[in-house]
Amino acid sequence: MTGHHDTTGNSPLFGTLAVIGPGLIGSSILRRARQDGTIAARLVACDASPAVRARVAELGLADRVEADPLRAVADADCVILCVPVGAVAEVGAAILPAMKPGAILTEVGSTKQSIIGAIAPFLRPDIPFVPTHPMAGTEYSGPDAGFATLFDDRWCLLTPLPDTDPAAVSIIETLWHRMGARTRIMDAAHHDRVCAIVSHLPHLLAFTICGTADDLADETRSEVLDFAASGFRDFTRIAASDPVMWRDIFLNNRDALLEMLARFTEDAQAMARAIRWGDEAFIVDRIERGRRIRRSLLENRQA
Ligand code: NAP
Repeated sequence: MTGHHDTTGNSPLFGTLAVIGPGLIGSSILRRARQDGTIAARLVACDASPAVRARVAELGLADRVEADPLRAVADADCVILCVPVGAVAEVGAAILPAMKPGAILTEVGSTKQSIIGAIAPFLRPDIPFVPTHPMAGTEYSGPDAGFATLFDDRWCLLTPLPDTDPAAVSIIETLWHRMGARTRIMDAAHHDRVCAIVSHLPHLLAFTICGTADDLADETRSEVLDFAASGFRDFTRIAASDPVMWRDIFLNNRDALLEMLARFTEDAQAMARAIRWGDEAFIVDRIERGRRIRRSLLENRQA
């Protein structure tokens, strides 16, 4: 079913690759593909906003910049949806009827089960759908925020459906290897639980702690924010992330995120109890665990 894709040698994997939503992730994919001739012979970018289209054209990120998603995907061998999680299924449903038989549809949303559930009714048997999640990003968004090396050494998680054509999954794995990433295949439910703890909960904590500090500064008219030291400063970097993107992620990974938050709350209460009762061993043990985790991230080149 899957069309003509060269996964060997140095010839381009796709004739035409279309990126819908050339923001941080989409423009990074385009930049990498521009730089590395083995990904696609032709690049198409599509965005609803005239300002984003003008910028993508100015930066020379694609051979064609389209306003109409149906035109953008018509001759594409692979379409990557790089829009916020809440828009993936809607945009997918709109473009699927215009895609070529045998082309591959993929997306990069940060949650997987809700996207798969929402897009399922619109899928076509002649278009393999391969959901992915590149575990790479920054707190910035838009086409200027992307860079070609964003995915180097990062993980890209693939969550194919049970009936997704394995040949298409393997082509999308090759795509991510050529983006510089390592790949892992897992089921969508497992993905959502893993990301709830490694990404979604940390963002929830960062947004919350910034709010708490801000309230405190208001109440006491103190300089909480003026003197923000390194710990707080690191939280503010995470908390600077895009509101629409994170609203969508929280609402689309509700169950797993609430479960991880409940577990975190219990563990935070255990720490509070140790502090109250002066349980030094418990406190030191928790801090040492944190240091071990940081060290292993550095060893795995993930920090
Ligand atoms: P971004 O920089 O804000 O880019 C999003 C793009 O989608 C923009 O070009 C935006 O265009 C377009 N868009 C927004 N709403 C749309 C709609 N309703 N219909 C069509 N296009 C729409 O975001 P990003 O950080 O690249 O994130 C894109 C996707 O990657 C999200 O699903 C996110 O969950 C996922 N992801 C993000 C990260 C990260 O760290 N940032 C990491 C991994 C995966 P306009 O500007 O015209 O609205």
